[in-house]
Formats: sequence, C-alpha cells, structure tokens
Amino acid sequence: MFVYADNAATTSVSKTALDAMLPFLTENYGNPSSLYSFAQKATEALAEARATVAKYINAEPKEIYFTSGGSEADNQAIISAAKLGARKGKKHLISTKFEHHAVLHTLKALEKDGYEVTLLDVHEDGVVRLEDVKAAVREDTCLVSVMFANNEIGTVQPIKEIGAFCREKGIPFHTDAVQVGGHMPIDVVDMNIDMLALSGHKFHAPKGVGVLYVKKTLPVFSLIEGGAQERGKRAGTENMAGIVALAAALKESCDNMEANNAKIIPMRDKLIAELSKIPHSRVNGSIEHRVPGTVNMCFEGIEGESLLLWLDAKGICASSGSACTSGSLDPSHVLLSLGLPHEVAHGSLRLSIGEYNTMEEIDHIIATVPQVVEYLRNMSPVWDALEKGERPHLI
Ligand SMILES: *Cc1c(COP(=O)(O)O)cnc(C)c1O
Repeated sequence: MFVYADNAATTSVSKTALDAMLPFLTENYGNPSSLYSFAQKATEALAEARATVAKYINAEPKEIYFTSGGSEADNQAIISAAKLGARKGKKHLISTKFEHHAVLHTLKALEKDGYEVTLLDVHEDGVVRLEDVKAAVREDTCLVSVMFANNEIGTVQPIKEIGAFCREKGIPFHTDAVQVGGHMPIDVVDMNIDMLALSGHKFHAPKGVGVLYVKKTLPVFSLIEGGAQERGKRAGTENMAGIVALAAALKESCDNMEANNAKIIPMRDKLIAELSKIPHSRVNGSIEHRVPGTVNMCFEGIEGESLLLWLDAKGICASSGSACTSGSLDPSHVLLSLGLPHEVAHGSLRLSIGEYNTMEEIDHIIATVPQVVEYLRNMSPVWDALEKGERPHLI
C-alpha cells in the first residue's frame, strides 16, 4: 500500500486546478500585458483569479499580489514592513521562535542590516500568547509576524486577538497562513490581518505560485524590479497557468472545506488515539487549537530519521518535521521551541493528511508505526539504558 501522509510539505494538483491551468499553457498563451485581443483572455483570467482569491479571504482584489510562493510572500511582507518602519525610525520586529524559515531567515538577514528582532517563546502547547506579544511591543516596533498555523505541529495561533492588539497600537501585523489556506476559514477583515502569505501547492495548486495580501492602507515595497506587473510591486511576466490554478484550487478547497474536514478530522483523531497507545510517546501541541490534518508525535528512544526510512519501506510518506530541515541532523527548531529536550525532539514524526487519504490508509499507518517503533527500540542502546533504569524516561 502507498500512503501519502505529507500534505503539509506539498499536495498533488487537483483535477480542477489542472483543468483550469492547461489552456494557459496551450491555446491561451498570450501575455496579459499585451494590448491585442488575443491576449485579452489572459488579462481577464488574471483579474478573475485575483477577484477569486480576494473573495475567499474577504479582501479586495487590489490587495492581492501573486508571487512565486509562500516564501516570497513572507519575504516581501516582512521586508516591506521593515522598510516602512525604517522611514519612521522604527527598526524593531517581533515574531516567534517556531516560524517557518521563510520568516526566520528573513528576520535574521534584517538583523544584519541593523534591525532588532524579538522572537517570542512558544508555550508547551505550541500556542503563542497575546500577553507575550503585548510584553514585547516597544515604541519602535514596526512589525508583528505570527504564523496562523505551524507547519510542523499544526497548532493554530490566536490571530484575531493578536491582530486586534496590533491594530490598536498601529503596528502592521503579518501572518504566514500557508498551512491554513484552503483548510480553515480566513477573513482578513474580521481577523485584523494587515499582511498574509499563502502558497498554492499546500492546497492542490502547483508549486511555484503564492499570494501576498496587503491591506490597501499599507505601502508595499517591491522585491523584484522590472515591468509594471502586479501594480508595480512584483515585476515579471505573470505565471498565468499557476495563478489560474491557484485560484481554482483555493475556490475548490474552500467550497468543500466543511465536507473535506468532516472526512479529515476523524482520520486525524484516530491516528492520535491509536498512536498515543505506544508507550513513552507524546503528541506535540494542543489538540484543541489545531489544523484539521496535522499530527506530530515523539517516540522516546528512537531517531525520527530511521523511523521515516522504515515507514518509506512500508510505503508511507511522512516527515520528521519540516521538509526544509530534513537532511540536517539538528532537531527541529519548532519542537525545541516547545521546550522539548533534544533527545525527545529527535524522535519525532509528522503525519499530515488530506481529503484524498482514506481510512484504510490510516489503518495501514496505525498498524505499521508501532511495529517500526518497537523494532527500532529493540536495536537502540538508548532504549536499552532507559529500560534498565540507567537513565530516566523523559516522556
Ligand atoms: C510551505 C510553507 C512555506 C513556503 O511556501 P513555498 O510556496 O514552498 O515557498 C512557508 N510557510 C509555511 C508555514 C509553509 O508551510
């Protein structure tokens, strides 16, 4: 059996998205900037895609910028806020320790340019506290950036409350909503969001296309100079096929959200219930404040990497954390930010499921993971020492 359980890393392109994009790779290849009527189809499709995306997050079309993905959108939001801040003599930015590297590394680069960054601790339940944001704010704070849902553990943050506080203080508020788009409702007005990033390939559009939303009252600075595309804020001939596919996939995911989640949540809950029976295991992050599809667990005494390789051999695609950190031997910065010891953080497994998964596949995972964990523990000198009482169990 083949089971794809890594939907937080990427998803397959849906038939709807593929059907929407194909004409823009074939007969409708016009450049939307061209004036002749042949290119009109592209111009119109671009406007329609922008209106569709705007509608599904309750924004206005002129507040939507298409980018090359979630990473670019995060970069542009943060750098824009930083440049605006610098003009007013404000060079302090607030974010959290468990952000995606698209945010963390952008902030690191800004630090080298003389900005100051405060990264908030994440509590053991994987949820950032409004109180901590309040305590970190200064006169010279020019941005608060808190991710909507974490990509490794799936916990959802109090975005509306943080947004309301930032609004009151007049501080721009950005949220990386890449794990939420198409999976949970987003309303930028109700949730007090000034800037937001989405990525198409996390909701069944192709890789290489994303969205930056910026509230119309905030200035946007361009990262890429050139032509006047995206109202001068993102030069380069538009990725037409990707953009129409993103809009079609977002519409499809949002229109079917309730039905999809009614299918996904019981699968996720069964994974949590059954895999929690493994001795010396733990579920990472709040169960309550969680996206529908993501489960992250630690199993004491094993290496997450070995677990993944064995699961791969059994046909299961999973992850130990973010796709971006696998390949490095450091434990996940997300799990460490929850306060987990290194030894525990090393034995992590992320399963992220979507509406294309089936209960049979979940049963295959539930039958396989305990076997592999036991097998690995039997070979592990660390587990041996734990069992003999030579070192204390940490979970
Ligand atoms: C995947 C992801 C990104 C990066 O999006 P890309 O389109 O791959 O650049 C950023 N943030 C989060 C939370 C993600 O899960």
